Amino acid sequence: MLTEKEKLRREGLYKRVNLSEEKRKKFSERIVNNLESLPEYKSAKKVLLYCPVKGEPDLTPLFEKVLKGKELILPKVKGKELELYKVSSYQCLKKGKFGIPEPIEGKIIPPEELDFIVIPGIVFDLQGYRLGFGKGYYDRLLKKTKGIKVGVAYSFQLVDKLPRDPWDVPVDIIVTEKNIRRLRNGLS
Ligand code: ADP
Ligand code: MG
Repeated sequence: MLTEKEKLRREGLYKRVNLSEEKRKKFSERIVNNLESLPEYKSAKKVLLYCPVKGEPDLTPLFEKVLKGKELILPKVKGKELELYKVSSYQCLKKGKFGIPEPIEGKIIPPEELDFIVIPGIVFDLQGYRLGFGKGYYDRLLKKTKGIKVGVAYSFQLVDKLPRDPWDVPVDIIVTEKNIRRLRNGLS
């Protein structure tokens, strides 16, 4: 028997991977523009992004821009945790655990130091709750962070309400290709 979360995860992933490359590129560019317009992004020093897999919005055009005036941080799976690396160039190169391209090396940054945390997801709800791949990596990371938590998704990945577990950590802002939804002030 599939749990409700597993069912929604499958459906959401199916929709996301089946988005055409053309739309993915167009929507990803709009998501990048929306991210750049946020005051929290403008003032941020340490920015966590990710290397896209399985149809996730491709924010790699933002990497170069972040590197110009901020610190670019990328996550890497290490056991049950996401380890955070400060990278100095475009480093979505090596495939790590689960085939996710990960930065190879860099200075390790403690989660508490992140200012602006960008989180991909399979489904988000209107309160900022999120379904990931089902391993809880971001839930474990986010409980240690103080920065603003920004979920990124295509608008078709949003639903009214997701099932939630006690360990789920919601995001503060959801950015899609259509709009920016502010859910809380990020100080929780
Ligand atoms: P996802 O957030 O990736 O969609 P889930 O929320 O279903 O996945 O969580 C997957 C697993 O991660 C759960 O079985 C849960 O036990 C574990 N987990 C999540 N957060 C924590 C945490 N803060 N501490 C310990 N285990 C956690
Ligand atoms: Mg979760």
